[in-house]
Amino acid sequence: MSPPTKHALLSASSAARWLLCTAAPHFEAQFLESTSEYAEEGSLAHAICELKAVYCLKKQLTKESYIQKLNLLKQNPIYNDEIDRTSDIYIQHLKEKIKIYKPRPNIAIEAYVDFSDYVPEGFGTCDCIIVGNNRLDIIDYKHGKGVAVEAKNNPQMRLYALGALKRYKHVYGNSIENVRMAIDQPRINAGVSEETITVSELISWGKNIKPLAQKAFNGTGEFKPGKHCRFCRGNAQCKARANTNITLQNYIDKSIDKLTNTEISELLIKGKELVAWYKDLKAYALNAILKGENIPEFKVVAGRSTRIFSDPDAAIAAAIKAGYSENDVYNHRPKTLAELEKLMGKAEFENNLGAFVVKPLGTPTLVSVNDKRVPYNSAEIDFAGVIK
Ligand code: SF4
Repeated sequence: MSPPTKHALLSASSAARWLLCTAAPHFEAQFLESTSEYAEEGSLAHAICELKAVYCLKKQLTKESYIQKLNLLKQNPIYNDEIDRTSDIYIQHLKEKIKIYKPRPNIAIEAYVDFSDYVPEGFGTCDCIIVGNNRLDIIDYKHGKGVAVEAKNNPQMRLYALGALKRYKHVYGNSIENVRMAIDQPRINAGVSEETITVSELISWGKNIKPLAQKAFNGTGEFKPGKHCRFCRGNAQCKARANTNITLQNYIDKSIDKLTNTEISELLIKGKELVAWYKDLKAYALNAILKGENIPEFKVVAGRSTRIFSDPDAAIAAAIKAGYSENDVYNHRPKTLAELEKLMGKAEFENNLGAFVVKPLGTPTLVSVNDKRVPYNSAEIDFAGVIK
C-alpha cells in the first residue's frame, strides 16, 4: 500500500523528539521540511528495498516486470552499487525471519499502520510486518551511516508495533503475545538491532506515552532541549535551546580559580551540545544569507579550493608531448584495503587477504563513558604503577 501523502503532526519517526520536548511538533510546524541528497538516497534505497521485498517475498511480480522496475530505479543519478548490496542484505534478513514461522506468516511490505489510539491522528508506514502464530515482527530499514539507531526502547518501532497490532486485530484477535522490533542498518551493522517485548508491555508503554502525545498534539507542551534537538527543524532558531547553551558559565564556581575534574566533565558534556548548536546556527546563517537575508556581521564567501585539471587526460598527454615519460607523470599505487574489499566482497576478501589484515590501535579519543568501545589500553596504561 502506498504511504499516505499527508504528514502526521506527531510522526513515529520524530517520536523520540516529541516525547522529550512536547513543544517541538507545533514549534517545528512553522519551518519548511528540507530535503538533502542523503534523504533522497535514503528514499531511493527504500524504494529498491520495497521492490525487492515485493518480488522476492510476496512473489507479486514477474521476473521481467521486476527487472524492468529495478532498472528504472537504477537510472536515478543518485543510485550507487552500495544500495544494491544493502538492499540484498535487508532481503536476506527478512528471509531469515520468515523462515522461523511455521506455517508461512502474513507478510506486509510498506504497510500503513494507524496508532491513533495512543497518539492523536498518528499513522505511519512500516517497511515490513511479519505476523503469524503468536508473534509479530516489525522491521525497519535505515540507510543512514552516520548514527546507529538502536531498536531497544525505540518509540518509532513501538508506535509502528501498536499500529500493526491494530491492523491485524481482526485476523489474530488477542492471540499475538510477543512483538519483535528490528532495525536493519546494513551500512553500519552487519547484524540487526532488535528488541522483543510482550504485547502487554507494549500496550502499557503506549498508555504511558498517551498523555505526552496529547500534550504535544494540543500545543500545550514544554520545550526541553537536549541531544534530540539534532534533527529538529527549528534547532537553530529555538530560543529554549539557545538559552540552555548560553548558560554554560553557571557550571563554574567563581570563588575557585581552578576547574575540578567534575566541572571539566560537566563542561565537556554541555560543550558537546554547545558545539552541535553552533554548527546548526552556522548552517542556518549560511542558508539565510544565500537566500538573500541579512545576518548582521556575517557574509558568505567562496571557501578554499585546490587547483584541478579541466581535462586530466589531455593534461597528461600534453606533459608526455612535452618530453616527460609515463613514469614521470603517473603514480602507480596499489588499491587500498577498502577498495580491494569492495572489489572482492567481504567473504572472498577474508579468504584471500584476511591473513594480511592488522588493525593498529587508534589514537586515544575522548568519548562518553556510555560508549560501547572498550577503554583505551596503551602500554603506558598497562604498566601504570609498575614502572617507577
Ligand atoms: S530545538 Fe530542541 S528544544 Fe527546541 S523545539 Fe526543537 S527539540 Fe525542542
